[in-house]
Amino acid sequence: MSPILEQAAAKAAGYLAEVNSRPVAPDVNALVRLAELGGPLPDLPTEAAGVIELLDRVGSPATVATSGGRFFGFVHGGTLPVALAANWLAGAWDQNAALYTSSPVASALEEISLGWLVGLLRLPADCGGAFVTGATMASFTGLAAARRRVLEAVGWDVDADGLQGAPAVSVVVSEEVHPSVLKSLGLLGLGRRRVLRVPVDGQGRMRADALPDFEAPAIVCVQVGNVNTGASDQVGAICDAAHARGAWVHVDGAFGLWAAASPALSHLVAGVEKADSWATDAHKWLNVPYDSGLAFVRDPELLYHAMSVAASYIPLAEHRDPGLFTPELSRRARGVEIWAALRTLGRNGVAAMIERTCRHARRMADGLRAADCQVLNEVVLNQVLVSFGDAETTSRVIDIIQDQGVCWCGGTTWQGHAAMRVSVANWSTSDEDVERSLEAILEARRLASA
Ligand SMILES: *Cc1c(COP(=O)(O)O)cnc(C)c1O
Repeated sequence: MSPILEQAAAKAAGYLAEVNSRPVAPDVNALVRLAELGGPLPDLPTEAAGVIELLDRVGSPATVATSGGRFFGFVHGGTLPVALAANWLAGAWDQNAALYTSSPVASALEEISLGWLVGLLRLPADCGGAFVTGATMASFTGLAAARRRVLEAVGWDVDADGLQGAPAVSVVVSEEVHPSVLKSLGLLGLGRRRVLRVPVDGQGRMRADALPDFEAPAIVCVQVGNVNTGASDQVGAICDAAHARGAWVHVDGAFGLWAAASPALSHLVAGVEKADSWATDAHKWLNVPYDSGLAFVRDPELLYHAMSVAASYIPLAEHRDPGLFTPELSRRARGVEIWAALRTLGRNGVAAMIERTCRHARRMADGLRAADCQVLNEVVLNQVLVSFGDAETTSRVIDIIQDQGVCWCGGTTWQGHAAMRVSVANWSTSDEDVERSLEAILEARRLASA
């Protein structure tokens, strides 16, 4: 094997072997040493082995240990070994996944994975799919299809003629809409601020009884999996009400949509299949490498017309041309790792991973409650919100936890209360990781109030 690939594989294996015995956040010295990667661009070439050596020596210690089992910040997930291995192979392939002609294997893996995914996530069997960078671009993609359809219905071709002079589109979101959906609306010319906001309940769910008055053309954005509480909007009821008024329903299910893959949890997202487009991440709960998101659109033609390009040098294939469904044309073959993860885990393995991480979240919540910490949310999925008293104490506890480095949790403000978020989405988190983290959190609380 080429020595440099052998070297990189050995460094990567060494990194993963130690990722669980180092502090989760990098120490300050590691951050200072990042300057060693800079300096003027050398005039002369450097030996490649030396570059990989430098990258590992300086770069690896300045990573956050998100591939380990005790990072509970944001909603991250790690990387399944097989997904990482597939990623390496795909890197060697260096496929341009835009066209069937430039990569038959990328096209085939996307098509196969798409079929498996819609079955797993209980979406309509023949819906269209796009393999994008993350849930932000997945929402952008779904909402581009939405924009096309709702304006087409009133005689306006938005993809050809743009939004200038077009009929106004009403966009409905909840008070708890994820900022990435607003950003997508901005990118699409629908406006980040030009939205009707629906109030939410105590878990952050859009109140289905509080939908505003609106008329078509209209788009309603719902959420399954609130980033703080894990709660899901009542998608079925909202779809019925929205469809009765001629609106399109888009679902932000960045992580929450994966509840559908578990027979034990799918009731949480009941009715989600009634929507018109869906955005989710694969790099979160499916535990594949960045960057990997998925958009699904009930009507595949709409997705195609919103995203396709034509040029005389691009041959029209009878097979799937992946780049005609995504904002990007040239791009990496994201279907590779998704296929490898699904093929390895199988239907039961995916469900087990989702259920296991939710069980860890419940154990965290039970352990915190037993120590008289206040859990602010109903722990229905993989998210726990905990308060340690007033805002100042909660913030001090979070700082101590991050400094100690046994685990990593971040802060948030939940309906006026300062809180710490515990998000469990990593395939490798073990019972022992949870118990060690609980101990570290409770120790931090003791130190904060001492
Ligand atoms: C993470 C997240 C997003 C954004 O996803 P990216 O992959 O970072 O683009 C959107 N919505 C929700 C609910 C999320 O948790």
